[in-house]
Amino acid sequence: MSNNILEVKNLKKHFDTPKGTLHAVDGVDFTIEAGKTLGVVGESGCGKSTLGRVILHLLDSTSGEIIYDGENITKVDKKQFIDLRKEMQIIFQDPFSSLDPRMTVSEIIKEPLVIHGVTKDKNELDKRVSELMSTVGLVDRLVNAYPHELDGGRRQRIGIARALALNPKFIVADEPVSALDVSIQAQVLNLMQDLQQEFGLTYMFITHDLSVVKHISDEILVMYLGKMVEKAPAKELFANPLHPYTKALLSAIPTPSLTKKRERILLKGEIVSPIEPKPGCRFAPRCPYAEELCRTTEPEIEEVSLGHEIVCHFVKEINKL
Ligand code: SF4
Repeated sequence: MSNNILEVKNLKKHFDTPKGTLHAVDGVDFTIEAGKTLGVVGESGCGKSTLGRVILHLLDSTSGEIIYDGENITKVDKKQFIDLRKEMQIIFQDPFSSLDPRMTVSEIIKEPLVIHGVTKDKNELDKRVSELMSTVGLVDRLVNAYPHELDGGRRQRIGIARALALNPKFIVADEPVSALDVSIQAQVLNLMQDLQQEFGLTYMFITHDLSVVKHISDEILVMYLGKMVEKAPAKELFANPLHPYTKALLSAIPTPSLTKKRERILLKGEIVSPIEPKPGCRFAPRCPYAEELCRTTEPEIEEVSLGHEIVCHFVKEINKL
């Protein structure tokens, strides 16, 4: 029996704009096993954040299916939405703008408990806030502090505590460490991993920075202009990237080794518009290997080794497979 907590089938999210239909997410398929982390990586505008919001029902899908814990949740009524909100949560990128500056730490963490009517008892609420603060490594004396009095790392810990308040199973973390200094990033990533172990959480971790998801992800899905281009177990993706776009993303990560320097691949050409996209591979205008076929025919998903899927006409030729 499958242990998948989330299954996404041919999911699309299009937006009507004055210039035409914007294909933000354009047919994405994946599964996430319970207790695991899927890293979703791509440049700004590739549709990764929209994908996360559609899964959480913060945006309606255009078509496709979302199966959560064995149940089709593609369309939900208000009651189902409220129930799902307890199970599925989000951690935002910028803790400062996602936290109400007029609320104290205690009020922010308490808010979901109050909205969902978990308890009205003030002592119980205070106890739960204290537990959650301790879980995310915030000391009790900060309970009445305001977000602007705290540094970025502590603010993100508040965001995490608030996300955990209702005991969710699944969390979309949308660029959760991008606004933080590198040293603080590591602390927050470690915290997220510890919490995953402790509570059996499943993460969909969205980022533009492949290096951030290297250690936290079990699997990584790379997106380009609304489509998946490559998906593989994290170790495999880093050891053996096959899609020209993934190779370029990886080449941008600095290596600590002085002897094994990676050659930086600089992508030339323009990013095509996601509005009324033309047929063919969307990466073609920037791909050094593009042929005529790439400009006319969309490549299909091909599994080249167990769990390693790639969407490119010439994957075998490029990688000498
Ligand atoms: Fe490049 Fe063609 Fe492969 Fe697209 S299908 S990534 S354009 S080689």
